[in-house]
Amino acid sequence: ATPIAILVGTGRGAQLGILVTGPAALESAERIDTIVLDKTGTLTSGRMSVARVTPAESQDAADALRRIAAVERGSEHPVAHAIVAAAGEGPVATDLESLPGRGVVGTVDGVRVFAGRPELAAELGAALPDALAAAVADGEQRGTVVVAGWADAAGAMRARAVIEVADTVRPESARAVAELRAMGLEPVLLTGDNPHVAAAVAAELGIERVRAGVPPEGKLAEIAALRGEGRTVAMVGDGVNDAAALASADLGIAMGGGTDAALHASDVALMRDDPRGIVTAVRLSRRTMRVIR
Ligand code: ADP
Ligand code: MG
Repeated sequence: ATPIAILVGTGRGAQLGILVTGPAALESAERIDTIVLDKTGTLTSGRMSVARVTPAESQDAADALRRIAAVERGSEHPVAHAIVAAAGEGPVATDLESLPGRGVVGTVDGVRVFAGRPELAAELGAALPDALAAAVADGEQRGTVVVAGWADAAGAMRARAVIEVADTVRPESARAVAELRAMGLEPVLLTGDNPHVAAAVAAELGIERVRAGVPPEGKLAEIAALRGEGRTVAMVGDGVNDAAALASADLGIAMGGGTDAALHASDVALMRDDPRGIVTAVRLSRRTMRVIR
């Protein structure tokens, strides 16, 4: 009997703008008690813009932005789109290496260039001059912060600029979170971004459980920890950095504007880039299983 009811559910889903790609996951839908929400591109618009560029002393801001954009052209992250838009036309780096949830590295004019979360600079052994460290601390009070730089003549990586990127909470997110709560789901905000931005978004949306600064493998671990508490977990995300967590959740939901990686890792895909679709998806999943019994 199962397949027919699920087909009905999936047909109704298409009408509602929801694509069910993993019908088996619907079986866990009515037991879901926890909904993990990615921040960037899920609760926020993901249409980011560069708010400020702080170059290191003796560094030309426009030249730095041009080099940094050359590596960001190799990334699908909303932060990358913002930086490329701010830089305009320019070269594309070669030997690009995308580091999901961390940043990107590539070669521009024969020089290795990096851009990513502040921790990436440390991982690459790039020291942060005091003025740039201050710009990071200051910028994190307002938004997402990227540290970028390139190798010196001796090949040693050096941080050369701090870029502040701004994003906005989607106007539909508050209503979506409130409805999920009313349905008995506890929301959890999970993000690779810094704790200040995460706390501000969570406070605006009335989310109490927040995990910030979490790398992609940490997102996976967080899902495992919640399931270990005996919870049944749905996860919503849009990025490459969310893929592993989406695949491991009891129900993975990909946002409408998400990456292919998020889409392929999910059981349900929203056709529209609107968080209210999350509510519809959970409701439809529950209803479909009720029809089966
Ligand atoms: P979220 O979980 O909010 O979607 P991510 O895990 O994708 O965030 O990214 C975490 C952080 O890593 C971002 O806030 C940003 O600082 C940094 N980052 C990720 N990708 C890039 C990139 N292509 N360029 C610069 N910084 C990046
Ligand atoms: Mg995201």
